[in-house]
Amino acid sequence: MRIIEGVVRPYAWGSRTAIASMQGRPVPSAHPEAELWFGSHPAGSARCVDVAGVGQDLVDVIDSDPIGCLGPSCTAAFGDRLPFLLKVLAADEPLSLQAHPSSEQARAGFERENARGVALDARDRNYRDPWHKPELIVATTPFDALAGFRAPEQTIRLLRELQVSALDPYLGMLAGQPDSEGLRALFTTWLTLPESLLRQLVPAVLGGAVDALSAGESEFTSELRTVCELGEAYPNDPGVLASLLLNNIHLEPGQGLYLAAGNLHAYLRGTGVEIMANSDNVLRGGLTPKHIDVPELLRVLDFTPVDVAALSPEVRTIGAERVYLTPAPEFRLSRVELDGTGLRHASSICFDMPGPQILAVLSGAIEVRPAGGAPLTVSAGRAMWITDDDPDVIVRAASARAVFYRALVPVAADANPEVPSSFASAAE
Ligand SMILES: [Zn+2]
Repeated sequence: MRIIEGVVRPYAWGSRTAIASMQGRPVPSAHPEAELWFGSHPAGSARCVDVAGVGQDLVDVIDSDPIGCLGPSCTAAFGDRLPFLLKVLAADEPLSLQAHPSSEQARAGFERENARGVALDARDRNYRDPWHKPELIVATTPFDALAGFRAPEQTIRLLRELQVSALDPYLGMLAGQPDSEGLRALFTTWLTLPESLLRQLVPAVLGGAVDALSAGESEFTSELRTVCELGEAYPNDPGVLASLLLNNIHLEPGQGLYLAAGNLHAYLRGTGVEIMANSDNVLRGGLTPKHIDVPELLRVLDFTPVDVAALSPEVRTIGAERVYLTPAPEFRLSRVELDGTGLRHASSICFDMPGPQILAVLSGAIEVRPAGGAPLTVSAGRAMWITDDDPDVIVRAASARAVFYRALVPVAADANPEVPSSFASAAE
């Protein structure tokens, strides 16, 4: 068991306050700080911090003793690597429009690109590893995202409300076939529209959105605002049109969003804790200067209309722990709030599950005591790495209020074998 420090990723869309203030550093930070990674990803491994202050990358710690760190069940299922990546994500601006492949698609795509001789680190490489990448985000502030195709009947109402005559042929496509095939046809048409047509259509849609907003009451106020915001940040980008087809999702702190393979999504703004399978496989369709591959994106997308409620993980409360259940075998995320005063909630919790675990502290501080050992204190913005061969631990609040997120591997911990019914069809 060791204290780890995360790695800050300075992507341009990041916040200059959220991660710095959590860690008690001055704000605003000198550069945008988009993500804080707690994991062993080679592109940004967390660093173990010993009491003596001598650091070692978590990826090297695991490489030197995979069985001791991960345990036999985890290595049997996922090899000698930590199967999840845990992050704090802080977005001030929208992220790219993207989707992730299924396991089969990832394996096939990885082999295809290897056979074509595309270098693993090439800019136009889609599949950097053979793994799928299911993702779960739990909001820690109000959080906005686009995810999954909205029911076509609602989208038709939204397109009509814009009153843009240039949209009529596209509206006709969807109205003539208001199902997943109609969505596929319209999305494909928009993402492959010639530049000259995009330069007419996107400004016309923006104008329609502004007019509809200024006209007052609308069923689609947040959708219209999103169109305006994306159009300003990414002029003439087909992703602005695509946003018209997606559910606008607003999460309050504590609410989660689970993105299975093939779900088209874009985070818009907010801070949250995100956990995903340890993969880099992202297929992008717009709203980004990064590599875009529309044909490959179309190949993996699931155009089945989806209701927002179907994207929410089932939450089960077990004592002080709120567990977010998803079908992903690589991770299970939970939120634990401890009350150092002991007046309102539990002040400590005991964890006795095998397999690798990371406890990331979001506010306050915790004291982690292994059975028969000395305790370590972890403050906000840092995390605790617990290995399979560590003894059971007791975690206590070391401040009046302490909030941390716990990540573990369900197969290794023999936890959560049941797939929540709401996701049964999404499970692979
Ligand atoms: Zn994603």
